[in-house]
Amino acid sequence: MTSIPNPKCLLCGSEKSKLYKTIESFGHPVSYYLCLDCGFIYQNEAETIAKDEAFYEENYRTLYQDSEEPTAKDLRQQTLRALDQAKFLRANLYAPKNVLDIGASSGLLLDTFRQEFGAGVTGIEPGNAYRAAAEKRDIQMFSSLENLLETNHNTFDLVTMMHVLEHLPKPVETLREIRQSLLASNGALLLEVPNFYAHDSFELAHLSCFTPHSLKEILRLAGYEIQAFRKHGHPRSKTLDLYIGALARPVIPEHEPGVVRPERCVPLKRVLSMLWRKVITRLRPKDSWLGA
Ligand SMILES: [Zn+2]
Repeated sequence: MTSIPNPKCLLCGSEKSKLYKTIESFGHPVSYYLCLDCGFIYQNEAETIAKDEAFYEENYRTLYQDSEEPTAKDLRQQTLRALDQAKFLRANLYAPKNVLDIGASSGLLLDTFRQEFGAGVTGIEPGNAYRAAAEKRDIQMFSSLENLLETNHNTFDLVTMMHVLEHLPKPVETLREIRQSLLASNGALLLEVPNFYAHDSFELAHLSCFTPHSLKEILRLAGYEIQAFRKHGHPRSKTLDLYIGALARPVIPEHEPGVVRPERCVPLKRVLSMLWRKVITRLRPKDSWLGA
């Protein structure tokens, strides 16, 4: 029997951990570990099934939505999100000219940015059916970051990653790669992840659970400085900050970021925030889950 390597923190790299929680997601047991050095909660990359490219090419959307084709609900949510992200960029006086969306799905964010900003658009999407849908919108698409990097590509003045970072087996390395190989020196990275202090977060394909602290730390570690940071529930909730987002710029000149600053009491903060979520949902049910 081959043994599974010990869990290694996806944020700080430490192997000091303890089992935090085991859940069942889509019929698979999924274990999360708590890093005893920095407080990050993550899946053991060596044991998760949600790390292979093949998983995202065909299985991921099927598991999540019973269909490989984008659903109507999916498209509606994506359009609302895309408009909200465009508003966030405008509020921060940023109008991109050349956008790369990593995890572009069927291309709705790019389509929206093309209309809102007149931007040139390129996408990366491993899911075959979604990528085909984006290509139909006349968007240049690639199936992986590696495929794009192999081409003679230009740099981008905006790279977006909407609900992608939490899926990556090597999130720090990928953020660095984006900064070094894809982003223009005066460009920006726009990203959003589920907020561990409001969103369930535990799902088969979520390898990392980000808090506001750890999202800031991973950006700093990968060589970015944050221009704008927000917590919000749009378009799903008026009361719960389900998502955390950041607009970040590459630090120039590049310098050694040092070690991860630990976050204390993450399990306790999770318990208290989920308790708060229960209370607020009870008090304001309609505002808490819009369209539910
Ligand atoms: Zn750690």
